[in-house]
Amino acid sequence: MQSRGFSCRRLYGSAVAYSGLAALQRARQRHRIVILAYHDIDAPTFKRHLEFLARTYNIVSLTEAVAAIGHGEALPERALVLTFDDGFRSFYTTVYPSLRQFQAPATVFLITGYVGSDDIPWFGWIDLASRKRADIADVLPNFLRGVEWLSLRRSLMAYLKTVPDEERRSLTEKITLRIEASDEEKDRYRLLTWNQVREMERSGLVSFGGHTRTHPILSRVGLDTARQEIADCAADLEREIGPAPRHFAYPNGGPADFNEQVKGMVQEAGFASAVTSIRGTNGPGDDLFALRRITVDGTLSVGEVAAKASGLWFQLGQGGMYM
Ligand SMILES: [Zn+2]
Repeated sequence: MQSRGFSCRRLYGSAVAYSGLAALQRARQRHRIVILAYHDIDAPTFKRHLEFLARTYNIVSLTEAVAAIGHGEALPERALVLTFDDGFRSFYTTVYPSLRQFQAPATVFLITGYVGSDDIPWFGWIDLASRKRADIADVLPNFLRGVEWLSLRRSLMAYLKTVPDEERRSLTEKITLRIEASDEEKDRYRLLTWNQVREMERSGLVSFGGHTRTHPILSRVGLDTARQEIADCAADLEREIGPAPRHFAYPNGGPADFNEQVKGMVQEAGFASAVTSIRGTNGPGDDLFALRRITVDGTLSVGEVAAKASGLWFQLGQGGMYM
């Protein structure tokens, strides 16, 4: 979510892209490695983004980027990595066809407990509650009662991400019981199936990484739960798609959402690197278990993607936050 109006942002992004400032900024930053973080996106928008990214950057796999950052291996200038969090089922029809068309590699971080399941992750239920304007006031903490859904979704999500995990689970459960959702309504939050995962991994274009088993905020659960979530996720990946250098993404991924202990657990579980949602680019010698990313989504025009990926967007004071 940005602080400024949508149309204002759009105009701004295009102006930046066409003024050549973004190109200048890209040239300055050509030795830095850009990792983009997507969640879900529709097919035509992603195709437009990828057309631009493929002709402007050298799209490399996360494994290649990690070899350059961690072990000094050579990478082309203007290297960019595509990553997708959560592993929504729509990825197979909206993103994968464009990746094949442009032969662009990408990494998808799976919440392994929901792969192939009809059930949906907890944040999907909150989103559904918001879309359906569900009547949940009486289960909410006092300070959120009476807040209109327009701002309630954001406040509730922020609240659930910062409370101890038990509270998050108990409140989400109460909210879930209040929602009557059809199969179609739940479908947008469902994750890929293991067969789709295997098929895409065999293509050599898409690699899969871990994003825990149920998507708790790892700094809000006890150490044993955190270790279990990470280790079970690694075991699921290995059992279903086999061993490989795999990477990890911290749920939510902000500075307060993981810590040194969690980083150690990810390493112990055998992951080769971990990405955050902390904004920035990467270079040789950077911490492989706290890689920086730039969040992009389907509401952005190509001009805005250009401005964000180049870093100019932030330099000129545009907002931006992780999700
Ligand atoms: Zn996520």
